[in-house]
Amino acid sequence: MERYRRQAAVGAGGARVDALLAALRVLVVGAGGTGAPLLQLLARAGVGELRVIDPDTVSPTDLARQVLYHDVDAREGRPKVEAALEELRRIGGRTRVSGDALALHPRNAEALIEPFDLVFDATDHLPARHWIDAACRKLGRPWIHLAAIEASWTVIPFASAIGPCFRCYSPDPIPLSVLGSCETRGVLPPAPALAALHGISALYGWLQARARGEDPTAVEWTVIRRGEVGTAEVRTSRLERDPACGGCGPASEGAPDERSLRPICGRTRWEGWSERSLAAWRAALERDRTTRWTVEESKGRLRARGGLASLTVFSDGRFLIGPDENSASIRGVPPEACDRTPAEDAQGARRAELGRPEDRGRETEDWEARVRALLDLDPCSPPSRGARNS
Ligand SMILES: [Zn+2]
Repeated sequence: MERYRRQAAVGAGGARVDALLAALRVLVVGAGGTGAPLLQLLARAGVGELRVIDPDTVSPTDLARQVLYHDVDAREGRPKVEAALEELRRIGGRTRVSGDALALHPRNAEALIEPFDLVFDATDHLPARHWIDAACRKLGRPWIHLAAIEASWTVIPFASAIGPCFRCYSPDPIPLSVLGSCETRGVLPPAPALAALHGISALYGWLQARARGEDPTAVEWTVIRRGEVGTAEVRTSRLERDPACGGCGPASEGAPDERSLRPICGRTRWEGWSERSLAAWRAALERDRTTRWTVEESKGRLRARGGLASLTVFSDGRFLIGPDENSASIRGVPPEACDRTPAEDAQGARRAELGRPEDRGRETEDWEARVRALLDLDPCSPPSRGARNS
């Protein structure tokens, strides 16, 4: 095709690299700071198939760096995926684009990743990175980790199966209180753009190796690339496999803890994932000695109120926890906020900031402890561990 002629002309293997790119199926998890520029670069380069997932909507604070979105998208609170697909389709060319307004979680990770040759992690959610890593290792798919916060960016390409895994790099789920939330730390616009550029550059490195007949996934180490906005330096270091790693080591523990809570931006609500069924949740809440819960179940979701907390559990394992209506109304949180589907919830995520940041920080720790206690309650027959009273 005429429009790809100049990239196919680069070097002896340019045409072969371009052919590999045209056949490549890529999943991008996240359409935010790193995802938006990355998606644009991938679509313009002419990757064969490009799919994007992201549960959020466009907000005004995204516009400084999320290059696919416009003022009107933020004003209307459009789902990022919808706005992104519109922009990507305008680019045209040979790339088939598709997407869904949903979040990756432990239950859908493998099904989402399986149809693709390669995954880009453009999420800002640390547990999601572990879930991508676990699913990619199991399915034998390479993936590329992108991150940007404040003035820094990081890119790590992970080859599947024999290389180091994400847990070799980031062994333990970091408590939310240490990580901070999207509201407590800022980001300079070039930082995610640089991550996207180095991410697609890493992809070209793999395609060039394949064009030379090498297997880029048959290496036992990977290179961490980092940089800071305002400096010319790109720092690289070699990530070796950790022999004692709980992910890729002989004593593999499987997927890491799924309990890490994510604050829903701008709201006093936290989102988590659990393997528990609705029936097991109900049983556990009934066995809670510290709180009396009122439990309702309808339309495939369970809603519980107890003490000052409100908990909503969806049938796909997602749950939301936060203050109940009474305390929420004091803070101005709409009571219906905890009773939405993920897509509906994304619409709500752009609501005005609520409460003081210092309160939110303290509540994060409280809620995390509270959820851990709830999840440690022994339901009669937890589905993932089998019946205990048989
Ligand atoms: Zn590992």
